[in-house]
Formats: sequence, C-alpha cells, structure tokens
Amino acid sequence: MLKPSLSGVPVSGLEDILSPLPRYRAKQIFDWINAGVSSFELMNNLPFSLRRELDERFCLRKTSVLNSVKDDAGGAVKLQISVEGGIIEAVALVDAAGRLTACLSTQLGCAMGCVFCKTGSLGFTRNLDGAEITEQFYHIRGLHPDISNIVFMGMGEPLLNLAGLRQALSVLCETMSTRRVTVSTCGLTDGIVSLADSGPAVRLAVSLTTARETLRRRLMPVSAAHPLDRLKESLLYYQKRQGRRVTLEAVLLGGVNTSEADAAAMTGFARGLDVVVNLIPWNPVENLSFDGMPLKEPSRAELSSFRAALEARGLKTVLRRKKGRGISGACGQLGVCKLY
Ligand code: SF4
Repeated sequence: MLKPSLSGVPVSGLEDILSPLPRYRAKQIFDWINAGVSSFELMNNLPFSLRRELDERFCLRKTSVLNSVKDDAGGAVKLQISVEGGIIEAVALVDAAGRLTACLSTQLGCAMGCVFCKTGSLGFTRNLDGAEITEQFYHIRGLHPDISNIVFMGMGEPLLNLAGLRQALSVLCETMSTRRVTVSTCGLTDGIVSLADSGPAVRLAVSLTTARETLRRRLMPVSAAHPLDRLKESLLYYQKRQGRRVTLEAVLLGGVNTSEADAAAMTGFARGLDVVVNLIPWNPVENLSFDGMPLKEPSRAELSSFRAALEARGLKTVLRRKKGRGISGACGQLGVCKLY
C-alpha cells in the first residue's frame, strides 16, 4: 500500500502527525518539503533515526510527472501527472512581463459539462486530495523556481472540492500570499458563500460566459441549479464579506455569445458589483459543438466589437493572451489525455 504523502500537510498538521516530537522538528520537515527535497535522507538537520522512521512511515510525493511539453511560442509548459486512477494536467503559464503562473487542477475530470471545455467532455472521476493538488505546484516549481501566482483554473471545479482546495492552500499559502492565488468557479453559489464566510481570502473568478440565462443554461448546465439571480446574490455577499473585486470570465465563442444582447445582459449582471471582465477567445478543442455546429473562435472583428460594446457601457475589460495554446494547455483545453 502507498505510504501517506507529507506534501499536502501544513506545519500544524505535521506537528499533530509527528507528536510527541518537538514542534520545531515539524517546521524543519515542512521547510525541507517546501524546498522540494526528494528524499527524507537529504534532511540533514534531522537525526538519522528520525529520517529512517519518516521514510518507513511516509512518502514525499504520491504523484509523478509522466511528460512535460513546452510551447516554444509562448514559453508555457504543460505537465501530465500520474495520480491514482488517471492522469491530470497542470500548466506553467508565462505572461508578457515574464511572470510565471501555475495553473492547477483540483479534480480528475469534471462533472460540470460546460460545452466549450475539453475537461467537461471527459466526465468526472474523483476529487484530488490536498497532496495531489500541492504536488502539482512542486512539480512546476521543479522546472521554474520563481512562481508569481497560482490559479485554480485547471481540470475540475474547485468549489466542488473545497476540502482538497483548502488543504492545499493551507500549505501553499504558508509561502505565497492569498492575494496571489485565484480560484475560478463556473458559478457554484453555495461554494462562493462558503468562501465568503470561511475563506481562505483568495481572489475569485467566475466563468460567466454569458448573462443571458437561457443561453447560459445550454452552454453551462450548472446554471440550471445556480441561476444568474442567485449567482449575483452570492457575489454581492462575497464582496460584502471579503471586499474584493471579482473577475468575470467570458469564454467567447464565435457567433454564439458575442452579440449586443450578450453585452447588454453582461452589463446588467455586473451592475452593483465591483468586477473586471476577462475576455477569453475560445481555445480550439476538436469535436466540441453547440447547436449541432462545431464551435469556433470569434473573429477579430467580433471580438473587438463585443469588447467595445462592453466598454461603451462602462465595464472594464481585459483581453486574455492566447497562452499555452501550442501545447493544448490553454483555458478549456486540458484533459487531452485519455483517463484510464
Ligand atoms: S470549464 Fe471548468 S467547470 Fe466547466 S467543464 Fe471545464 S473544468 Fe469543468
């Protein structure tokens, strides 16, 4: 049987697990793990007998990197990582200023079924635990030591795995500010309220895509159980409790959700909220369709007129660069490997 991994355990948890060892030992072990050490043997400020005991009881990694692919055009790197029961993907994205963002997965597959997303087409297998999420960060950091930000925008819906997410953040946020961590949800209202009430105080992004309810239900089935009026209520509550701007993400599908009516509905939804709209031209994935037609990217003209329509109505917008496309590592493209 696989030994439990210590990689998803914060200092306080290590203190409990290792009791009655003195507390400073837990901190020493945490620092080694966080530094990316690959074996207990290398923890040379611990007594030899303790290193041996740790090695008998625990492991430092329960996941392993199967493959890494680099996008020569943009510098993004996608890792395919073996976990129990399948393969997940995590991506290192590089922005125009050279800053590196780790995009992490929280589930093996996803049950949400957004029609524009490769992961959604795979279905759901299981939640990842705190160690499996944390280790994605460590694997990426093994390639790029300087990670500026973390986004939970990989495979899965993070707010359906709040336990795993919180566990991972209890480790990652010992060394990274919560201000540099963004959790992206497809709009689960109870999860948003839970984040508002119980934290952690990370940044929140919501994949809105369109604020036309009927269209949204067809593009994002989650909207049936979490309709737009309740989603807005939950965001108002979140902003009241956390006082933070929210990012509304709009995956733009050519000819589907870029009309004047979409711009007007999105403006109405955003009224009263402190938001910025992140426009994401759809990243191509084979065999995804809507209304019997293959999905397509928005044209340049469509994109700029939709953006202009939002800005004319007073919304702040950001156009997301096409990061990670060359390796199928961009938003909505993860999960190209077959689950087994
Ligand atoms: S966009 Fe996110 S929530 Fe929707 S199917 Fe893909 S991974 Fe799941």
